[in-house]
Amino acid sequence: MEMSSKLLEKAVAEISLLPGIGKRTALRLALHLLKQPLEQTQHLSNALLRLREDIRFCTICHNISDTEVCEICSNALRDASVICVVEDVRDVMAIENTGLFKGLYHVLGGKISPIDGVGPSQLTIVPLVERVKQGNVKELIFALSSTMEGDTTNFYIYKQIKDYNIVTSAIARGIGVGDELEFADEVTLGRSIMHRVPFETSLRDI
Ligand SMILES: [Zn+2]
Repeated sequence: MEMSSKLLEKAVAEISLLPGIGKRTALRLALHLLKQPLEQTQHLSNALLRLREDIRFCTICHNISDTEVCEICSNALRDASVICVVEDVRDVMAIENTGLFKGLYHVLGGKISPIDGVGPSQLTIVPLVERVKQGNVKELIFALSSTMEGDTTNFYIYKQIKDYNIVTSAIARGIGVGDELEFADEVTLGRSIMHRVPFETSLRDI
């Protein structure tokens, strides 16, 4: 795309690095910003920079947090004996939106996927096993999407913690196979958490 300004060209190139944004959309966004007051671009830049520089991950559950321990983990009203294992922070948001789950979370940061080069060591599985080893956990709920990678990850974790005498369950498969949690509607998701099944039972469905 020929542009009359190197500055515009640079901005468009940066914006189009974002997922789902092509050069055309990037150009539209850049031109839009040029029409807005300067402060709008300043606020946007500052928000993005602060997000990137200041955001932290909860040292307990690895959820995105502004503080060392996130609001969920530090909430004394939550049931610390139940941990819901999810793939990423969007799943925490989706489950929190249902308002039905009162336990804590553990954010894995992905799923085991050899094709994508993701092995167990790239996920927060070791810290999860540590949480179980500490002895306060009574139940682990697997809430990963029911894809092959999700099942592989669940089973890998299950093997590591099955000797610790805790209940393991999986969210009920009201959610279709392959559906991502974040796209499930809140009612279905809430129901599937409330009607969770013993993990061993869910294995038979694989
Ligand atoms: Zn936390």
